[in-house]
Amino acid sequence: MRPSSAPDPLILVLSGPGGAGKGTVIRRLVERDPRLWLSRSWTTRTRRPGEDEDAYTFVDREAFLARAKAGGFLEWATVLGEYYGTPIPDAPPGHDVVLEIDVQGAQQVLERVVDRTIVCALLVPPSQAEQEARLRGRGDGEAHVERRLALGAQELEVGKRFADAIVVNDDLDRAVNELAAIVAAAREREASCGASS
Ligand code: 5GP
Repeated sequence: MRPSSAPDPLILVLSGPGGAGKGTVIRRLVERDPRLWLSRSWTTRTRRPGEDEDAYTFVDREAFLARAKAGGFLEWATVLGEYYGTPIPDAPPGHDVVLEIDVQGAQQVLERVVDRTIVCALLVPPSQAEQEARLRGRGDGEAHVERRLALGAQELEVGKRFADAIVVNDDLDRAVNELAAIVAAAREREASCGASS
């Protein structure tokens, strides 16, 4: 965890390879904790069949790059040829911010955000077989699945270098509980820092 002088709010960054189940875990976590505010990313990739309309703000490249140029992103990165970016967070007061982003984005957040406590967690799939099954279940083509797996291996290697916690998604409830405990511990540390300063 990277401490800062400001007590609140936290930023929880969840990264991990495609097929780790980040989206599901994060949705569950945010549903059960009203103090968490999930950022909605912008992306230039097209919506998958059956994907929620509000999974992202889906935009074209022109709109994405215009926002990037105007300084409207906290971080942004290219993943398999598509742009993904986190708009400057606009969380209601008293809320902790949750970002579900790739490891490039996580590193940018760690470099740029100096006035908040950031907790970085890496979600890993229980096995490569499970990861592949999840990726194929999304309806992506075989070549795309292969590219995601190769990228995922890199993400794990890079992510392990800076993550504060590594959470294995072998059981959804357990993984969500573990993340909730990580958030609770970070809040306690924040509160005790605030109380002693
Ligand atoms: P997907 O296309 O599977 O939804 O996402 C591909 C990758 O982009 C995932 O690792 C996801 O976490 C990441 N991602 C989603 N939103 C953002 C974002 O705003 N910024 C960055 N850097 N990565 C993101």
